[in-house]
Amino acid sequence: MSLSAADAVQTIIAAGRRLDARGLAAATSGNYSLRLPSGRLAITVSGRHKGRLGPADVMVVDIDGVPLEGQRPSAETALHTLLYRLYPQVNAVLHVHSVAAVTLTRSLPTAREIVLEGYEMLKAFPGIATHRSAVSIPLFENSQDIPALAAAVARRLEAGPAAPAYLIRGHGAYGWGRDMEEAERIIEALEHLLLCELEALRLAGGRA
Ligand SMILES: [Zn+2]
Repeated sequence: MSLSAADAVQTIIAAGRRLDARGLAAATSGNYSLRLPSGRLAITVSGRHKGRLGPADVMVVDIDGVPLEGQRPSAETALHTLLYRLYPQVNAVLHVHSVAAVTLTRSLPTAREIVLEGYEMLKAFPGIATHRSAVSIPLFENSQDIPALAAAVARRLEAGPAAPAYLIRGHGAYGWGRDMEEAERIIEALEHLLLCELEALRLAGGRA
């Protein structure tokens, strides 16, 4: 990916506007990152509204999340960096506190994954060519202990092939891709699919 640091900042700002317009960036929630040609990462600064980002709201950290400037990176930086370390082909990571991800995962308190099956929208995921597919989205318990949560996510993703997304119960979703466009497609598709699952659960009277 030949994306300069300045391009990366503009790409992140534009993504924030689009995700906010879709209702995926309430308050100051979420965080976004891109891999730079240097191998470092551009990531949103902690506590900024993602629909109203400016150039000063994106900072650079190394692959271990250590800031190269004085600003404080997102509290969840380790949940981004594990993905860049694990997947060399991944260049963009998005995290959103989506209403569908929050409510569905709270409604299924013992689930360790959400299996999405039979949906046309599954074709938005890389390598899926037919609705006759099942995609497992790993689901983790929420924690303020980010290093422990990041270690749990890394262990599970290392264990096998996984969809380019994971969920944190009552918190939100992570999605990633080769570039921002692909990461956004994953997040939008996931939101659509989780809304469908939520609606199906509602129609079934709240029982999975
Ligand atoms: Zn979050």
